[in-house]
Amino acid sequence: MIALANVLDGLTAQGELFEKLPDDVVRCSACAHRCKIAPEKRGICLVRLNRDGTLRVPWGYVAGLQSDPIEKKPFAHVLPGATALTFGMLGCDFHCGYCQNWLTSQALRDSASEVAVNLVRPISPAEIIKTARRAHAEVVVSSYNEPLITSEWAVAIFKEAKSAGMMCAFVSNGNATPEALEYLRPYLSAYKVDLKSMQEKNYRSLGGVLKNVLDTIQRAYALGLWVEVVTLVVPGFNDSNEELFETARFLQSVSADIPWHVTAFHKDYKMTTPENTPSKTLLRAAEIGREAGLHYIYAGNLPGRVEEYENTHCPHCNRALIRRHGYVISEYRLTKDGTCPSCGTKVAGIWPENPRDVTINGVGIPLPVY
Ligand code: SF4
Repeated sequence: MIALANVLDGLTAQGELFEKLPDDVVRCSACAHRCKIAPEKRGICLVRLNRDGTLRVPWGYVAGLQSDPIEKKPFAHVLPGATALTFGMLGCDFHCGYCQNWLTSQALRDSASEVAVNLVRPISPAEIIKTARRAHAEVVVSSYNEPLITSEWAVAIFKEAKSAGMMCAFVSNGNATPEALEYLRPYLSAYKVDLKSMQEKNYRSLGGVLKNVLDTIQRAYALGLWVEVVTLVVPGFNDSNEELFETARFLQSVSADIPWHVTAFHKDYKMTTPENTPSKTLLRAAEIGREAGLHYIYAGNLPGRVEEYENTHCPHCNRALIRRHGYVISEYRLTKDGTCPSCGTKVAGIWPENPRDVTINGVGIPLPVY
């Protein structure tokens, strides 16, 4: 993996989320691992490194750049139908056995990911925003690998995106620190967090700590970010009624308005033993979310097989306000004030000023960008 390491180490800049310690040691605060890194060593994510007593962080490239429907992030309450220009880099602070993006996320950790060197494309923030304009993107998103570990680069891009009138969002494992959230807050509007389990032992097996993720959800919400939460429901891992109820109850304790996406697992990477999640399990999870008092529950990855759980309903009169099939919006009935046209109840979210701007029956698939 020397070739990939050399390429990535060459594409770095001095970081901002760290402190200097004695003997040229640095402590990184981009994620909750808070790695103490000795000179010429790397943090757990392997892409942030100590060079001569300062922290070098990923900079000046993307390993993925795509025009995605915002529904793919997934965000159900952020500008439905919008195009989200999404960028990703390499590396992760977790090592989830079921990662669908492992080729890029496990760079420098899994020797099979060496080929990811071919995805690396040097680029500037201005070029990314030019691409976003060409794609008619309203939102710029850091995703695909874990964005916290490349926060400085994300902020460089987000500054340009905000000046261009675009909204910015993170799609993250939630292993954040208060410092990282404060650092990102001026630029971010929306933050999607994966809440992968409520069991500490499960989080340990993925490389994380449950409390750090729960704290991130609470903090991001308290900071005024629009938060949506995803739980990939994996049979035998996190799909018991008790655990699903605990997850939903926790979210409800933060806010009943946080949308909860329960999504279907399929065999991938190193997790090939559990069966793919059947639709009946997602429906069970969604019912549990409703019983726990959540207002907005979505069942994902099985379009057309999850009854009403692709749609947004009014939390008061239950009228269907946004109908979806997969990533396609087929009907949008919210008013310009984001209220239900039948009963006037405010629906929480970030909605378009003009409902007529919502793309109905769009392509609903990721598109390449140039
Ligand atoms: S981003 Fe996280 S894993 Fe990477 S060096 Fe910083 S604290 Fe360690």
